[in-house]
Amino acid sequence: MEKLQAIRGMNDILPENSLSWQYLESTFQRIVKRFGYQEIRFPILEHTQLFKRSIGEVTDIVEKEMYSFDDRNGNSLSLRPEGTAGCVRAADQHGLLYNRQQRLWYQGPMFRHERPQKGRYRQFHQFGVEAFGMSGPDIDVEVLQVAAMLWQELDLEEFLVLEINNIGSAADRKEYSKALREYLQSIEGQLPLDDDARTRMHVNPMRVLDSKHPGVQAALGDAPVLYNFVNDDSKDQYEELKMLLTASNIDYVENPKLVRGLDYYNNCVYEWTTDTLGAQSAVCGGGRYDGLVEQLGGRQTLACGFAIGIERLVLMLDTLHKIPEEALKPIDVYVACVGENVTEQALALAQAIREEQPDLGVISHCGSGKFNSQLKRAFSSGAKVAVILEREGDCNAPLQTGKIRRLDDSIEAQTYEIAAIPKKVAEVLLN
Ligand code: ATP
Ligand code: MG
Repeated sequence: MEKLQAIRGMNDILPENSLSWQYLESTFQRIVKRFGYQEIRFPILEHTQLFKRSIGEVTDIVEKEMYSFDDRNGNSLSLRPEGTAGCVRAADQHGLLYNRQQRLWYQGPMFRHERPQKGRYRQFHQFGVEAFGMSGPDIDVEVLQVAAMLWQELDLEEFLVLEINNIGSAADRKEYSKALREYLQSIEGQLPLDDDARTRMHVNPMRVLDSKHPGVQAALGDAPVLYNFVNDDSKDQYEELKMLLTASNIDYVENPKLVRGLDYYNNCVYEWTTDTLGAQSAVCGGGRYDGLVEQLGGRQTLACGFAIGIERLVLMLDTLHKIPEEALKPIDVYVACVGENVTEQALALAQAIREEQPDLGVISHCGSGKFNSQLKRAFSSGAKVAVILEREGDCNAPLQTGKIRRLDDSIEAQTYEIAAIPKKVAEVLLN
C-alpha cells in the first residue's frame, strides 16, 4: 500500500532537530520569566470571525492564507494564523484585561496557506509576548528588551537589525490612505498589479506598500510618506521611544515604509530582520495595538507585543552553528549489562545514577546482547561514559563491582564497588 506523506509545508520535527528547538524554547522561557511574563495557552481553532475582525478583511492573511472550514454544526472556524487575536480573545473573555496590567507570553503552531520555501511553511511556530494596560513607550522598550536579551543569549545579536517606525493612529492612517490612494491612481499605469492587487489598492492602499514585488516598490518612490500624516502625540512617543532605546543600548534603524501586514497595529511598530536567511528575512515582528481589544468587543485597552518565528530562528542557530554542544547531547551515561542475571542490578544502578545526578541522561541497555554490540550502542547513543556490569561465568550471587569507561578517549575502564558508581560517574563526566 502507498505510504501517506505529511501535508506540504507542514514539517515533522525529528529527535535530532528537536534538541535545537528545546534549547531555543528553554532559553526563551527563562528570559520571559526573568521579565515577569506569564504563560497563556489558548486554542488553535477559533471562530473565523475573530481573525477577520482583528487582522483585517483586506490583508494577505485573511484573504488568501487562512485554513478555514465549516465544522459539523456549520460554524466557520479557522486554524489560527497568528497568536495575538486568540490571546486577546482569551484574556478578555476571562476578565484579565479589566483595569489591570498584564504581561503574557505564548508559544505554539500557527497556520498560513503560503507557498512553502526555506523559512516559510504552512504550519510554523511562534513565540509571542503581549503586554496590556500600559501606554508606552516604556513598555514598548521593555518588550524589545525581551527580544534583545534573547538574541544576546543565543549569540545572534550581531546578525539581527531592529527596524522601527511609527504608523500613528487609525484616523491618521485613514487620511494617509486617502492621499496614497490618489497617488496610486495617478500612477496606476506604471504599477504591475494583478486584479487582486488593484482591488486592494482601492480598499486598503497601504497593503500596496507591503508588496514584495520589486516593480511595485520601484514605482512607489514618490508616494506620500505616512509619517507626515502622523499626529503630534504619536510623534512625541516615537521620539521618546528612540531616546529610551538608545539609553537601553538597543540599536535600531528607522524604516518609514514599515507598515506590517496586519491591520490592528498603531503607533510604534517594528521588525527584527536578518540577512542570514535569504528572502525570508523577518524573524520577529510587533508593535502597539491599542484599538484591538475594543475592536473585538472589549473595553478600550492599551496593548503591545511581538511574535517571533521559531523555524527561522532555529535555521539561524543551525546555519551559524550557535547551538552549544551540550544542548545537542541528550545522553550522558549508557549502562550495559552482560551475562546471566544482571538485568535487575543494571536497572537499579541506572536508577541510582539518575537519583544521584538528576541532570544526567542515563540509558539502561535493554534487550540483552553481547558485550561488543552493547558497547557499540553505547557509542552511537552519544553517551560520554559507559557503565558496565558484566558477569563472567554462571555464578548467581549479586555482582559486587562494575566498570566505568569513558567513551571519548582510550583510557581503560576502571573498576569500582557498585555502590560507589553513581558518585564516581559524575566525577568522571566532569573531567
Ligand atoms: P513575512 O514578511 O516573512 O511574510 P510576516 O510579516 O507575515 O512575515 P508576522 O505575521 O509578523 O510575519 O509573524 C511574525 C514572524 O513569524 C515573522 O517575522 C516570521 O519570522 C514568522 N513567520 C510568519 N509567517 C511564517 C511562515 N509562513 N513560515 C515560517 N515563519 C513565519
Ligand atoms: Mg507573511
